Amino acid sequence: MSILIVDDSEDDRVLVRTILESAGYRDLLLAHSAEAAFSHLGMDRAGQGSHKVDLVLMDLIMPGMNGIEACRQIKALEHLRDIPIIMVTVKTNPVDLQLAFAAGAMDFINKPLNKVELLTRVRSVLRLLKEIDHRKSREQELLQVMRQLEDANQMLLRLSRLDGLTGITNRRQFDTFLDQEWRRALREAIPLSVIMLDIDNFKPYNDAFGHQAGDECLKQVANAISTQLNRPGDLVARYGGDEFVIVLPGTPPEGAALVAETLRARIQALGITYSRSRPSDLVTISLGVAGTVPDREASPADLVAAADQTLYQAKQEGRNRVKTRPTMSVKKKAHHE
Ligand code: GH3
Ligand code: MG
Repeated sequence: MSILIVDDSEDDRVLVRTILESAGYRDLLLAHSAEAAFSHLGMDRAGQGSHKVDLVLMDLIMPGMNGIEACRQIKALEHLRDIPIIMVTVKTNPVDLQLAFAAGAMDFINKPLNKVELLTRVRSVLRLLKEIDHRKSREQELLQVMRQLEDANQMLLRLSRLDGLTGITNRRQFDTFLDQEWRRALREAIPLSVIMLDIDNFKPYNDAFGHQAGDECLKQVANAISTQLNRPGDLVARYGGDEFVIVLPGTPPEGAALVAETLRARIQALGITYSRSRPSDLVTISLGVAGTVPDREASPADLVAAADQTLYQAKQEGRNRVKTRPTMSVKKKAHHE
Protein backbone atom coordinates (compact mmCIF):
# COMPACT_ATOMS: atom_id res chain seq x y z
CA MET A 1 0.00 0.00 0.00
CA SER A 2 1.49 3.32 -1.05
CA ILE A 3 0.73 6.34 1.14
CA LEU A 4 1.52 9.92 0.17
CA ILE A 5 2.20 12.26 3.13
CA VAL A 6 1.75 15.96 2.28
CA ASP A 7 2.86 18.46 4.93
CA ASP A 8 4.89 21.68 4.86
CA SER A 9 6.32 20.92 8.31
CA GLU A 10 9.26 18.58 8.12
CA ASP A 11 8.77 17.52 11.74
CA ASP A 12 5.21 16.48 11.04
CA ARG A 13 6.19 14.62 7.86
CA VAL A 14 8.85 12.68 9.73
CA LEU A 15 6.49 11.99 12.63
CA VAL A 16 3.79 10.60 10.34
CA ARG A 17 6.38 8.53 8.51
CA THR A 18 7.77 7.12 11.76
CA ILE A 19 4.32 6.16 13.04
CA LEU A 20 3.36 4.52 9.78
CA GLU A 21 6.69 2.70 9.49
CA SER A 22 6.31 1.40 13.03
CA ALA A 23 3.02 -0.18 11.93
CA GLY A 24 4.68 -1.88 8.96
CA TYR A 25 3.82 0.54 6.14
CA ARG A 26 6.88 0.65 3.90
CA ASP A 27 5.81 2.35 0.68
CA LEU A 28 5.69 5.99 1.83
CA LEU A 29 6.06 9.13 -0.30
CA LEU A 30 6.74 12.54 1.22
CA ALA A 31 5.76 15.92 -0.23
CA HIS A 32 6.39 19.34 1.34
CA SER A 33 3.70 21.16 -0.69
CA ALA A 34 0.59 20.62 -2.78
CA GLU A 35 2.70 21.07 -5.93
CA ALA A 36 5.18 18.42 -4.78
CA ALA A 37 2.21 16.11 -4.10
CA PHE A 38 0.85 16.76 -7.63
CA SER A 39 4.24 15.77 -8.98
CA HIS A 40 4.09 12.42 -7.13
CA LEU A 41 0.60 11.88 -8.53
CA GLY A 42 1.81 12.63 -12.04
CA MET A 43 -0.33 15.77 -12.32
CA ASP A 44 2.47 17.96 -13.65
CA ARG A 45 4.63 17.44 -16.69
CA ALA A 46 7.70 16.53 -14.61
CA GLY A 47 5.55 14.17 -12.54
CA GLN A 48 6.38 10.62 -11.58
CA GLY A 49 2.93 9.53 -12.71
CA SER A 50 3.81 5.89 -12.80
CA HIS A 51 3.74 5.58 -9.00
CA LYS A 52 0.38 4.31 -7.82
CA VAL A 53 -0.82 6.09 -4.68
CA ASP A 54 -3.44 4.34 -2.53
CA LEU A 55 -3.98 6.96 0.14
CA VAL A 56 -3.12 10.65 0.69
CA LEU A 57 -2.61 12.24 4.11
CA MET A 58 -3.01 15.96 3.38
CA ASP A 59 -2.13 18.82 5.70
CA LEU A 60 -4.94 21.37 5.56
CA ILE A 61 -2.93 24.52 6.16
CA MET A 62 0.12 24.99 3.94
CA PRO A 63 1.78 28.06 2.43
CA GLY A 64 0.92 28.34 -1.25
CA MET A 65 -1.95 26.05 -2.18
CA ASN A 66 -3.78 24.80 0.89
CA GLY A 67 -4.94 21.21 1.46
CA ILE A 68 -8.56 21.85 0.54
CA GLU A 69 -7.73 23.30 -2.88
CA ALA A 70 -5.18 20.50 -3.49
CA CYS A 71 -7.85 17.95 -2.61
CA ARG A 72 -10.32 19.57 -5.03
CA GLN A 73 -7.78 19.50 -7.87
CA ILE A 74 -6.91 15.84 -7.31
CA LYS A 75 -10.58 14.87 -7.17
CA ALA A 76 -11.27 16.76 -10.39
CA LEU A 77 -9.20 14.20 -12.29
CA GLU A 78 -11.05 11.08 -13.41
CA HIS A 79 -8.14 8.69 -12.88
CA LEU A 80 -7.30 10.02 -9.40
CA ARG A 81 -10.87 10.52 -8.18
CA ASP A 82 -11.00 7.26 -6.22
CA ILE A 83 -7.83 7.85 -4.15
CA PRO A 84 -9.00 8.47 -0.56
CA ILE A 85 -7.70 11.67 1.06
CA ILE A 86 -7.50 12.13 4.82
CA MET A 87 -7.14 15.74 5.97
CA VAL A 88 -4.67 16.44 8.75
CA THR A 89 -5.50 19.65 10.59
CA VAL A 90 -4.82 21.61 13.75
CA LYS A 91 -8.07 23.42 13.27
CA THR A 92 -11.33 21.63 13.78
CA ASN A 93 -13.12 24.67 12.51
CA PRO A 94 -16.43 23.23 11.24
CA VAL A 95 -16.41 25.48 8.17
CA ASP A 96 -12.97 24.21 7.12
CA LEU A 97 -14.06 20.64 7.69
CA GLN A 98 -17.19 21.22 5.66
CA LEU A 99 -15.08 22.68 2.85
CA ALA A 100 -12.67 19.73 3.06
CA PHE A 101 -15.46 17.18 2.77
CA ALA A 102 -17.06 19.16 -0.04
CA ALA A 103 -13.70 19.03 -1.83
CA GLY A 104 -13.79 15.22 -1.59
CA ALA A 105 -11.85 14.42 1.61
CA MET A 106 -12.87 11.12 3.14
CA ASP A 107 -11.87 11.72 6.78
CA PHE A 108 -9.83 14.02 9.01
CA ILE A 109 -7.23 13.67 11.79
CA ASN A 110 -6.37 16.27 14.37
CA LYS A 111 -2.95 17.72 15.03
CA PRO A 112 -1.04 17.24 17.25
CA LEU A 113 -0.93 13.73 15.98
CA ASN A 114 -1.94 10.85 18.13
CA LYS A 115 -0.36 7.56 17.06
CA VAL A 116 -3.37 5.35 17.79
CA GLU A 117 -5.79 7.73 16.11
CA LEU A 118 -3.62 8.06 13.00
CA LEU A 119 -3.17 4.31 12.61
CA THR A 120 -6.86 3.60 13.25
CA ARG A 121 -7.98 6.11 10.61
CA VAL A 122 -5.43 4.90 8.07
CA ARG A 123 -6.33 1.26 8.64
CA SER A 124 -10.05 1.82 8.36
CA VAL A 125 -9.69 3.81 5.14
CA LEU A 126 -7.39 1.18 3.64
CA ARG A 127 -9.80 -1.58 4.71
CA LEU A 128 -12.62 0.30 3.02
CA LEU A 129 -10.46 0.64 -0.07
CA LYS A 130 -9.84 -3.11 -0.15
CA GLU A 131 -13.54 -3.77 0.24
CA ILE A 132 -14.34 -1.42 -2.66
CA ASP A 133 -11.71 -3.13 -4.81
CA HIS A 134 -13.12 -6.51 -3.92
CA ARG A 135 -16.63 -5.40 -4.82
CA LYS A 136 -15.45 -3.91 -8.08
CA SER A 137 -13.79 -7.16 -9.11
CA ARG A 138 -16.92 -9.10 -8.08
CA GLU A 139 -18.96 -6.73 -10.21
CA GLN A 140 -16.63 -7.37 -13.14
CA GLU A 141 -16.94 -11.12 -12.63
CA LEU A 142 -20.69 -10.79 -12.49
CA LEU A 143 -20.75 -8.72 -15.68
CA GLN A 144 -18.61 -11.31 -17.41
CA VAL A 145 -20.88 -14.14 -16.30
CA MET A 146 -23.87 -12.14 -17.55
CA ARG A 147 -22.20 -11.64 -20.91
CA GLN A 148 -21.40 -15.36 -21.12
CA LEU A 149 -25.01 -16.16 -20.27
CA GLU A 150 -26.20 -13.79 -22.96
CA ASP A 151 -23.89 -15.47 -25.50
CA ALA A 152 -25.08 -18.90 -24.40
CA ASN A 153 -28.70 -17.77 -24.79
CA GLN A 154 -28.00 -16.48 -28.28
CA MET A 155 -26.33 -19.76 -29.14
CA LEU A 156 -29.27 -21.76 -27.73
CA LEU A 157 -31.69 -19.62 -29.68
CA ARG A 158 -29.71 -20.23 -32.87
CA LEU A 159 -29.52 -23.96 -32.17
CA SER A 160 -33.23 -24.16 -31.42
CA ARG A 161 -33.86 -22.88 -34.94
CA LEU A 162 -31.54 -25.34 -36.67
CA ASP A 163 -31.83 -28.94 -37.70
CA GLY A 164 -29.37 -31.06 -35.69
CA LEU A 165 -28.17 -33.22 -38.58
CA THR A 166 -27.83 -30.83 -41.49
CA GLY A 167 -27.35 -27.51 -39.67
CA ILE A 168 -29.96 -25.78 -41.84
CA THR A 169 -33.20 -24.23 -40.56
CA ASN A 170 -35.58 -26.67 -38.90
CA ARG A 171 -39.28 -27.20 -39.40
CA ARG A 172 -40.35 -25.03 -36.47
CA GLN A 173 -38.39 -22.01 -37.65
CA PHE A 174 -39.61 -22.62 -41.19
CA ASP A 175 -43.21 -22.35 -39.96
CA THR A 176 -42.45 -19.03 -38.27
CA PHE A 177 -40.60 -17.70 -41.31
CA LEU A 178 -43.29 -18.73 -43.79
CA ASP A 179 -45.94 -17.14 -41.61
CA GLN A 180 -44.05 -13.83 -41.56
CA GLU A 181 -43.41 -13.88 -45.28
CA TRP A 182 -47.02 -14.78 -46.02
CA ARG A 183 -48.22 -11.76 -44.06
CA ARG A 184 -45.68 -9.50 -45.71
CA ALA A 185 -46.67 -10.71 -49.20
CA LEU A 186 -50.34 -10.21 -48.30
CA ARG A 187 -49.70 -6.63 -47.19
CA GLU A 188 -47.61 -5.77 -50.22
CA ALA A 189 -49.65 -7.86 -52.71
CA ILE A 190 -46.53 -9.62 -54.01
CA PRO A 191 -46.06 -13.29 -54.92
CA LEU A 192 -44.65 -15.96 -52.62
CA SER A 193 -43.53 -19.42 -53.70
CA VAL A 194 -42.65 -22.64 -51.94
CA ILE A 195 -40.63 -25.57 -53.29
CA MET A 196 -41.04 -28.96 -51.60
CA LEU A 197 -38.43 -31.54 -52.51
CA ASP A 198 -37.74 -35.11 -51.53
CA ILE A 199 -34.85 -37.47 -52.29
CA ASP A 200 -35.84 -40.24 -54.72
CA ASN A 201 -35.67 -43.80 -53.45
CA PHE A 202 -33.80 -42.84 -50.33
CA LYS A 203 -34.92 -45.92 -48.44
CA PRO A 204 -32.99 -48.25 -50.79
CA TYR A 205 -29.97 -45.94 -50.47
CA ASN A 206 -30.02 -46.32 -46.69
CA ASP A 207 -30.49 -50.05 -47.07
CA ALA A 208 -27.52 -50.35 -49.40
CA PHE A 209 -25.01 -48.12 -47.62
CA GLY A 210 -26.26 -47.89 -44.04
CA HIS A 211 -27.87 -45.16 -42.00
CA GLN A 212 -24.65 -43.24 -41.45
CA ALA A 213 -23.98 -42.96 -45.17
CA GLY A 214 -27.63 -41.91 -45.49
CA ASP A 215 -27.01 -39.11 -43.01
CA GLU A 216 -23.96 -37.99 -44.97
CA CYS A 217 -26.03 -37.91 -48.15
CA LEU A 218 -28.68 -35.77 -46.41
CA LYS A 219 -25.98 -33.32 -45.31
CA GLN A 220 -24.56 -33.12 -48.83
CA VAL A 221 -27.99 -32.47 -50.32
CA ALA A 222 -28.78 -29.81 -47.68
CA ASN A 223 -25.49 -28.09 -48.34
CA ALA A 224 -25.87 -28.19 -52.12
CA ILE A 225 -29.36 -26.70 -51.96
CA SER A 226 -28.35 -23.96 -49.51
CA THR A 227 -25.34 -22.89 -51.54
CA GLN A 228 -27.27 -22.97 -54.83
CA LEU A 229 -29.82 -20.40 -53.66
CA ASN A 230 -28.43 -16.92 -54.02
CA ARG A 231 -31.10 -14.50 -52.86
CA PRO A 232 -30.55 -13.48 -49.24
CA GLY A 233 -34.31 -13.51 -48.58
CA ASP A 234 -34.71 -17.20 -49.54
CA LEU A 235 -34.89 -19.84 -46.85
CA VAL A 236 -34.09 -23.57 -47.00
CA ALA A 237 -35.32 -25.82 -44.22
CA ARG A 238 -35.37 -29.53 -43.48
CA TYR A 239 -39.03 -30.43 -43.43
CA GLY A 240 -38.43 -33.91 -42.03
CA GLY A 241 -36.76 -37.19 -43.09
CA ASP A 242 -35.48 -36.77 -46.65
CA GLU A 243 -37.82 -33.88 -47.39
CA PHE A 244 -36.73 -30.23 -47.70
CA VAL A 245 -38.69 -27.04 -48.24
CA ILE A 246 -37.69 -23.68 -49.68
CA VAL A 247 -39.47 -20.34 -49.26
CA LEU A 248 -38.93 -17.81 -52.05
CA PRO A 249 -40.37 -14.42 -51.07
CA GLY A 250 -41.29 -12.05 -53.89
CA THR A 251 -41.01 -14.86 -56.46
CA PRO A 252 -43.88 -16.11 -58.69
CA PRO A 253 -44.15 -19.89 -59.31
CA GLU A 254 -42.66 -19.58 -62.82
CA GLY A 255 -39.48 -18.11 -61.28
CA ALA A 256 -39.49 -20.71 -58.51
CA ALA A 257 -39.74 -23.46 -61.16
CA LEU A 258 -36.51 -22.21 -62.74
CA VAL A 259 -34.83 -22.31 -59.32
CA ALA A 260 -36.21 -25.82 -58.76
CA GLU A 261 -34.76 -27.02 -62.05
CA THR A 262 -31.27 -25.72 -61.14
CA LEU A 263 -31.56 -27.56 -57.82
CA ARG A 264 -32.58 -30.79 -59.55
CA ALA A 265 -29.60 -30.54 -61.89
CA ARG A 266 -27.25 -29.63 -59.03
CA ILE A 267 -28.15 -32.70 -56.96
CA GLN A 268 -27.79 -35.00 -59.93
CA ALA A 269 -24.41 -33.37 -60.65
CA LEU A 270 -23.22 -34.25 -57.13
CA GLY A 271 -22.81 -37.74 -58.57
CA ILE A 272 -23.74 -39.65 -55.41
CA THR A 273 -24.19 -43.25 -56.60
CA TYR A 274 -26.96 -45.56 -55.44
CA SER A 275 -25.08 -48.79 -55.79
CA ARG A 276 -21.57 -50.00 -56.26
CA SER A 277 -22.66 -52.33 -59.03
CA ARG A 278 -24.42 -49.63 -61.06
CA PRO A 279 -22.48 -46.39 -60.48
CA SER A 280 -24.54 -44.61 -63.12
CA ASP A 281 -27.57 -44.75 -60.78
CA LEU A 282 -27.33 -41.35 -59.14
CA VAL A 283 -29.14 -39.81 -56.19
CA THR A 284 -31.82 -37.44 -57.51
CA ILE A 285 -34.62 -35.33 -56.10
CA SER A 286 -38.20 -34.64 -57.08
CA LEU A 287 -39.61 -31.16 -56.60
CA GLY A 288 -43.06 -29.63 -56.32
CA VAL A 289 -43.49 -25.89 -56.80
CA ALA A 290 -46.48 -23.80 -55.73
CA GLY A 291 -46.81 -20.05 -55.60
CA THR A 292 -49.39 -17.37 -55.19
CA VAL A 293 -50.09 -13.77 -54.35
CA PRO A 294 -51.59 -14.40 -50.90
CA ASP A 295 -55.20 -13.47 -50.20
CA ARG A 296 -57.25 -13.62 -47.05
CA GLU A 297 -59.09 -16.74 -48.23
CA ALA A 298 -55.93 -18.87 -48.05
CA SER A 299 -53.26 -19.66 -45.47
CA PRO A 300 -49.54 -20.57 -45.51
CA ALA A 301 -50.53 -24.17 -44.78
CA ASP A 302 -52.52 -24.21 -48.04
CA LEU A 303 -49.43 -23.13 -49.96
CA VAL A 304 -47.34 -25.92 -48.37
CA ALA A 305 -50.10 -28.45 -49.05
CA ALA A 306 -50.21 -27.36 -52.70
CA ALA A 307 -46.43 -27.77 -53.06
CA ASP A 308 -46.66 -31.18 -51.37
CA GLN A 309 -49.36 -32.34 -53.80
CA THR A 310 -47.28 -31.10 -56.73
CA LEU A 311 -44.28 -33.00 -55.37
CA TYR A 312 -46.44 -36.12 -55.20
CA GLN A 313 -47.27 -35.68 -58.89
CA ALA A 314 -43.54 -35.38 -59.70
CA LYS A 315 -42.97 -38.70 -57.91
CA GLN A 316 -45.91 -40.30 -59.71
CA GLU A 317 -44.66 -39.16 -63.09
CA GLY A 318 -41.27 -40.83 -62.67
CA ARG A 319 -39.13 -38.82 -60.14
CA ASN A 320 -36.05 -36.65 -60.84
CA ARG A 321 -38.28 -33.87 -62.13
CA VAL A 322 -39.95 -30.57 -61.30
CA LYS A 323 -43.70 -30.10 -61.31
CA THR A 324 -45.17 -26.63 -60.99
CA ARG A 325 -48.55 -25.33 -60.09
CA PRO A 326 -49.15 -22.00 -61.87
CA THR A 327 -50.24 -18.83 -60.10
CA MET A 328 -53.65 -19.44 -58.63
CA SER A 329 -55.83 -19.19 -55.67
CA VAL A 330 -53.89 -21.78 -53.70
CA LYS A 331 -56.78 -22.71 -51.49
CA LYS A 332 -59.30 -23.42 -54.24
CA LYS A 333 -56.95 -25.57 -56.31
CA ALA A 334 -55.54 -27.36 -53.30
CA HIS A 335 -58.98 -28.27 -52.08
CA HIS A 336 -60.58 -29.18 -55.37
CA GLU A 337 -57.95 -31.62 -56.60
P1 GH3 B 1 -39.44 -41.70 -52.79
O1 GH3 B 1 -38.67 -41.63 -54.05
O2 GH3 B 1 -40.89 -42.03 -53.03
O3 GH3 B 1 -39.28 -40.52 -51.93
O4 GH3 B 1 -38.86 -42.95 -52.02
P2 GH3 B 1 -38.07 -42.97 -50.67
O5 GH3 B 1 -37.45 -44.30 -50.50
O6 GH3 B 1 -37.15 -41.81 -50.57
O7 GH3 B 1 -39.26 -42.84 -49.67
P3 GH3 B 1 -39.49 -41.78 -48.55
O8 GH3 B 1 -39.11 -40.45 -49.00
O9 GH3 B 1 -40.93 -41.97 -48.10
O10 GH3 B 1 -38.58 -42.35 -47.42
C1 GH3 B 1 -37.75 -41.57 -46.69
C2 GH3 B 1 -36.66 -42.45 -46.16
O11 GH3 B 1 -35.59 -41.62 -45.75
C3 GH3 B 1 -37.02 -43.23 -44.94
C4 GH3 B 1 -35.74 -43.42 -44.23
O12 GH3 B 1 -35.13 -44.63 -44.65
C5 GH3 B 1 -34.91 -42.28 -44.73
N1 GH3 B 1 -34.62 -41.28 -43.71
C6 GH3 B 1 -35.49 -40.39 -43.16
N2 GH3 B 1 -34.85 -39.63 -42.27
C7 GH3 B 1 -33.54 -40.00 -42.24
C8 GH3 B 1 -32.38 -39.60 -41.54
O13 GH3 B 1 -32.39 -38.68 -40.71
N3 GH3 B 1 -31.22 -40.24 -41.80
C9 GH3 B 1 -31.16 -41.25 -42.71
N4 GH3 B 1 -30.01 -41.84 -42.93
N5 GH3 B 1 -32.23 -41.65 -43.38
C10 GH3 B 1 -33.40 -41.07 -43.17
MG1 MG C 1 -37.80 -39.85 -50.54
